[in-house]
Amino acid sequence: MKAFVQTAIGKFEERDLERPEPGPGELVLRMRAALTCGTDVKLLARGHARIALPVTMGHELCGEVAAAGPGAGGFRPGERVVPGISGPCGRCADCSTGRPNLCERGHADRTWGAFAEYVRVPAGVVAANLHRVPGALEDEVAAFMDPLASVLHGWSRLGSAPSTLLVYGAGALGLLWAAVAARHGAAVVVAGRRPERARLAERFGARFADVERNGPAPETDAAVDCTGDPAVWRLLSESVRPGGTVVLFGGCAPGATAAFDAARLHYGELALVGSFHYGPAEARAALDLLASGAIDPRPLLAERGALADLPRFLAAQARGEGVRYAVRSGA
Ligand SMILES: [Zn+2]
Ligand SMILES: [Zn+2]
Repeated sequence: MKAFVQTAIGKFEERDLERPEPGPGELVLRMRAALTCGTDVKLLARGHARIALPVTMGHELCGEVAAAGPGAGGFRPGERVVPGISGPCGRCADCSTGRPNLCERGHADRTWGAFAEYVRVPAGVVAANLHRVPGALEDEVAAFMDPLASVLHGWSRLGSAPSTLLVYGAGALGLLWAAVAARHGAAVVVAGRRPERARLAERFGARFADVERNGPAPETDAAVDCTGDPAVWRLLSESVRPGGTVVLFGGCAPGATAAFDAARLHYGELALVGSFHYGPAEARAALDLLASGAIDPRPLLAERGALADLPRFLAAQARGEGVRYAVRSGA
């Protein structure tokens, strides 16, 4: 099968790999659609402590069941599904205290390698975090389950709904944050560097602030970082009102440290809240929002193409041209 494999920092190539065979409890999916993501570009540029190379790239996909391992019951061949990345065990301390997104066992074997004709889904994901795609939902829209579920998790980390929210970063995640917050009645400002994203921000219910030209946005109840830049984390801690919350949503480079104005954190009673990944219930909720059309991510898709278009799409994504690109098997 054709697969795109990262071989070193900054390097990837198309390879002909053995089609994966499902082990006990596992499924193999035929990839129907997979999305490029800023994370793919980041991993390509700097690698990841938990991901050994070479690795087949890509993690946001919709597929159909092609083969089932022993004990992987409940899914029929040909059924369209969207896998979560992790399969929480349901028994550990994290799972039993409502944090299945953090489950170590769930992250020990993850769904990975969406930029290929076939993808292995680990047994833990099949058991706990694999979701049937409702009827008419398009493959590439269903593949937005992963980023949208992450945003739903981040939203839950806010505790209560803010009346004003500053979203820093105007990529897919920032714009999905805008859509979720707007649905909850928050006045949202999306801050970004590319004025051409203003129209998209408006479509997702937000006002756009060009931070390069206008400086930091005004004071807000809550702010969320979608850049993974510690300088932005600090900027946001200075942009929220006393009593405000900053959600640290973007993952930083390995080894990064962050500095804050300690007095402002203390006397302003600011809450800095981490947010990572999502659990199965959030994955299901995300798919429901996509299926009902309550959140329509299609304006985020700059182009759809074949798997062979991936190098061109990743280069365009790295240059920040389009928000997302979709590759389709057999397209
Ligand atoms: Zn992603
Ligand atoms: Zn667990």
